[in-house]
Amino acid sequence: MKAIRLVKPGSPLEEVEIAIPSVAARDVLIRVKAAGICHSDAHYRARLSPVARLPLTLGHEVAGVVEKTGPDVQAFATGDRVCVHYLVTCGECGFCRAGTEQFCTTVQMVGKNRDGGYAEFIVVPERSVFRLPDEIPFEQGAILMCSSATSLHALNKARLRPGETVAIFGVGGLGVSAVQLAKYFGAAEVFAVDINPKKLELAQHFGAIPVSASAGNPVEQIQELTRGRGVDVALELVGLPVTMRQAVQSLAILGRAALVGLTQETLEIAPYAELLNKETEIIGVSDHLASEIPALLDLARTGKLDLSHGIIRNVPLEAGAVNDVMDRLENFSDDVRVVITP
Ligand SMILES: [Zn+2]
Ligand SMILES: [Zn+2]
Repeated sequence: MKAIRLVKPGSPLEEVEIAIPSVAARDVLIRVKAAGICHSDAHYRARLSPVARLPLTLGHEVAGVVEKTGPDVQAFATGDRVCVHYLVTCGECGFCRAGTEQFCTTVQMVGKNRDGGYAEFIVVPERSVFRLPDEIPFEQGAILMCSSATSLHALNKARLRPGETVAIFGVGGLGVSAVQLAKYFGAAEVFAVDINPKKLELAQHFGAIPVSASAGNPVEQIQELTRGRGVDVALELVGLPVTMRQAVQSLAILGRAALVGLTQETLEIAPYAELLNKETEIIGVSDHLASEIPALLDLARTGKLDLSHGIIRNVPLEAGAVNDVMDRLENFSDDVRVVITP
């Protein structure tokens, strides 16, 4: 089968011919119909974050059709529409039992620790497979499983309650979902912060109040828009110390800042003014939970989470096209989400 693989970090991905993966007793072999190209994939290619082995097929946002199942698989059959939870976990360790399986002692991320979905086929254990409702196109099913799922987990971790106010820093793939989910969970006001006018426009379309970070300090703008109160919840989805600090500085008394964007750099905080004096909280967010996925699929199935608005572009399963998309991602271009459709 054809696969787009990371062979040498720091160099473009390569298109290679490899064997179709073998199917163990509890495995599901999926014919990939859509694989999202995520910012973290560009990070792997650029050597900004490590992958577990080389060469490796990237791609952790995957939807497709069941091609073949192992003899012990009960819940799926050939032809089923499915999407993949990108964490492969044991189901038995303390973290798995506690429902925090992203910390499973043997956790493997699809497209990072094991081969991912930039290929014609992918194999994953049944435990990581979810049925994709007919109403959700494969492309949307794929990106749901990363950006939307992580946005949902971030809002859960930040303990958003109805009537609260929210600021979302960065309106890329995660931000568009975060705006809609925050509104759906009853946020009174959602402020969307970005420098890109197209992304701000999209956020506004979904009911957010746009805050242009290129028009001035977003913290001051949010303070003004909330009459000096600040917001109850801030999500940082960019991965820059400056926006992380702005998220914290935007908080009201007892506010919670959930940090999702990745950076290796240090975040500076003024402990008294920004944390202690307001009893604010800074919360780390890592991936999401399998238990959050059914609710998310239901929101997408019923149209409460709309991923159809000019946010998806398709490219073929070709190294040149995929490398191009990653080049653009590295430059923070307008593309909100690009999906490989083999
Ligand atoms: Zn992703
Ligand atoms: Zn486990």
